[in-house]
Amino acid sequence: MSSSRRRDVVVVGGGHNGLVAAAYLARGGLDVLVCERRDVVGGAAVSERPFGPEYLVTSLSYVVSLLPPDLVADLALARHGYHVFPQGPYFAPRADGRYLRLPEDPAARHAEISKFSASDASAYPAYEGHLQKIANVLAPMLEEIPPRLGSRRPADLARQAMLLRHLGKLDERGAVDVTRLLTGSIADLLDQYFESDAMRGLLSVSGVIGTWAGPRSAGTAYVMLHHHIGGVDGQAGAWGFPRGGMGGVTQAIAGAARGFGAEVRTGTAVVRIRTTSAGQVAGVTLESGEDIDADIVITTVHPKIAFLDLLDPTALPAEFLDDIRHWQTRSGTVKINLALDRLPRFASHPDYDPQVHGGTIVLAESLDGIEDAFQDAVAGRPSAVPFADICIPSVFDDTLAPPGRHVMSMFTQWVPHRYADKPDNGELDAYADRVVARMEAVAPGFTDSIQHRQVLGPHTMQQEYGLVGGNIFHGELSLGQMFHARPAAGYADLRTPVGGLYQAGSATHGGGGVTGIPGRNVVRQIRADRRAGRWRHPAGWRQAASEARWRRLDTHERSAG
Ligand SMILES: Cc1cc2nc3c(=O)[nH]c(=O)nc-3n(C[C@H](O)[C@H](O)[C@H](O)COP(=O)(O)OP(=O)(O)OC[C@H]3O[C@@H](n4cnc5c(N)ncnc54)[C@H](O)[C@@H]3O)c2cc1C
Repeated sequence: MSSSRRRDVVVVGGGHNGLVAAAYLARGGLDVLVCERRDVVGGAAVSERPFGPEYLVTSLSYVVSLLPPDLVADLALARHGYHVFPQGPYFAPRADGRYLRLPEDPAARHAEISKFSASDASAYPAYEGHLQKIANVLAPMLEEIPPRLGSRRPADLARQAMLLRHLGKLDERGAVDVTRLLTGSIADLLDQYFESDAMRGLLSVSGVIGTWAGPRSAGTAYVMLHHHIGGVDGQAGAWGFPRGGMGGVTQAIAGAARGFGAEVRTGTAVVRIRTTSAGQVAGVTLESGEDIDADIVITTVHPKIAFLDLLDPTALPAEFLDDIRHWQTRSGTVKINLALDRLPRFASHPDYDPQVHGGTIVLAESLDGIEDAFQDAVAGRPSAVPFADICIPSVFDDTLAPPGRHVMSMFTQWVPHRYADKPDNGELDAYADRVVARMEAVAPGFTDSIQHRQVLGPHTMQQEYGLVGGNIFHGELSLGQMFHARPAAGYADLRTPVGGLYQAGSATHGGGGVTGIPGRNVVRQIRADRRAGRWRHPAGWRQAASEARWRRLDTHERSAG
């Protein structure tokens, strides 16, 4: 077995979180290696060429909103090509020839909603205000490292007190609103404001995106809020298309990490995270047989891969293993990517309009229809009428397709989540045909415009992209899997039971989406632990040099604020 030079930090997984962690660490001068199993970095935020050289396709994730602006600035991502085109507003074409749009301008929006219900049009500002009030409380918490609730250690008690102080800003009304939002369904929430099928269908989609739950399931109101927390260009709640697809984001972060001196290796699967008999991390073993020792290892892969496959189970407490084994990680999501020889021509809105074709095109006519689609999958059948959240980023981004041609991204649900464990059996293609037929019904001629089609179901997501169970967030965003419970009791602070082994993938708090928050927070946690003496370098000549680098990181981060 070969062995290469010892690193300060090895990062397992070159998705955006791994790359963010590597970039921050390397910026401070540490010797960092990122090991990515696939031949391209990015994980679920990746652009590939499944249709040949002409088209660049954002394979899985497709829009950005949750990446904090200060992270983008810290890592100077613009210098590495990061650019976001703001996405147009919602456009929901209907089979009866009508459409619902939600433009930014309040008067125009009021007029559009009034086509379906005057009462809904009047209720919309109050609905937005309600969400904004709750987002103002919860959004800052998304960027925090959760305290260890239940722990009696002084440091943990201090952090619990900070959480209470933050929640103390809520008045009685606010406390009830937050509780209801966290525990209720998106259907319950929409019931309070809206009566028309059109509004209820359109707005319930973001409550079930990536979720193994229908709009009447508890917890879906929060999923909607999670998608409402970010922003683009300073506009709260807005989403945008990164240039070059979501791979444009991760290529930029990888460029930054490399620019700061990190080594990013692709085609480099980790097969073992090694530990010492004293319960400390020792390093990793690669598929090639190479051993790499490290002071710190950060895993950003799905927790079931990290803790059930890569680590020796005897290195982990039974209770922790139990939490990971029972981690819920279902979605039933199918991503359909298309290359088109022209833009769709909507029967309800035949002319080209960048605010329509470049918007969020939603195929979902009623909340009940979405619930029915979920109930099909619960009963073990792919949805008869799947809903779809669609975008055509090539409307703005000319790097994706030749002139006049386009790429379309269709995010759809549901197939049974158990499809993750079986290869495509033809049902997935029939399912994709139904999504295309739904589009054809509102945009006649659409089917003829399709030049290439790629259908990525839960099995491919699991096998190829490492999204176990097909869940798009490494684990469901349900109340029992959030904040201090993400992903295991006592380990929401990005530590693990193994000294020097940290976690920073989407299954940790702040994760679920391309947020970069776990990747940034893990660096804070490692620095705090080093200062508190929670982990040490092995004794030897190397120790002084390594210690100096860690101190330099501290100085750098403190001066960067
Ligand atoms: C269909 C779909 C649509 C989505 N849409 C959006 C969206 O529009 N906007 C949004 O914000 N979020 C979206 N998401 C969610 C978002 O993409 C993910 O939450 C996020 O990209 C996960 O990032 P990560 O770095 O935590 O993990 P990942 O991106 O999963 O990265 C982990 C990496 O580890 C690698 N790996 C696995 N095992 C090993 C090993 N043994 N050795 C080395 N490497 C290994 C994997 O190949 C992968 O590259 C979507 C996800 C999906 C699947």
